[in-house]
Amino acid sequence: MELSNRKEKIVEIVKANEPITGEKIGEHLNLTRETLRPDLAILNMTGFLESRTRVVYFYTGKSHFELLTDKIEHMFIKDYQSVPVVLKEDSSVYNAISTMFLEDIGTLFVVDNNGLLSGVLSRKDLLRASIGQKDLNSIPVNILMTRMPNIVMCKKDDLLIHVAREMIDKGIDGLPVVKERDNGYEVIGRVTKTTITNAFLELVSNRQFQV
Ligand code: ADP
Repeated sequence: MELSNRKEKIVEIVKANEPITGEKIGEHLNLTRETLRPDLAILNMTGFLESRTRVVYFYTGKSHFELLTDKIEHMFIKDYQSVPVVLKEDSSVYNAISTMFLEDIGTLFVVDNNGLLSGVLSRKDLLRASIGQKDLNSIPVNILMTRMPNIVMCKKDDLLIHVAREMIDKGIDGLPVVKERDNGYEVIGRVTKTTITNAFLELVSNRQFQV
């Protein structure tokens, strides 16, 4: 019997017979409770079944879609953000381009003398500034960056899905994760389209949902 089929059958049995013990579910399938234990644990963990005691099982009535939505509503920035890469305002365009290559990232953040967020630099910002310029060492990034108050930011307790929406609506590839300070914002993380892609892959590769 295919594992996913078996989970589906377990759900059907619980739906028709709840409350039901693991043992009784086993009897329906001609399998021991021990054999079913991993499936029951997954079905319980993913929310298809409910069992506080791990003895008696109930059907939660939640669909795949509802469970997926539940999961998405618990995906917070703090669990997915990566390390930010910041530059000072007087850094040169040359330095910014080198940093992008060295760090292998597409969005850089710029901070002022107090270490607070003052700008964002994208790949195209740097390409634009480079066209026809001979001395990229002499151009500071603060003349071409997108600056405060126009920076779209997020906080660690924001939902990943809201930030994904912001990226699409505002047409940007990344956001700084910030912490509010007295005179501005400290950059504590980075969220990019790669972050969202990874989270999406994690969600769909999560075999829990293939019941
Ligand atoms: P690219 O320009 O390489 O396609 P983006 O789409 O991220 O990359 O950037 C588009 C423009 O939006 C750039 O001028 C960039 O400075 C700006 N930008 C990028 N991220 C942000 C942000 N979080 N807040 C405000 N502006 C941003």
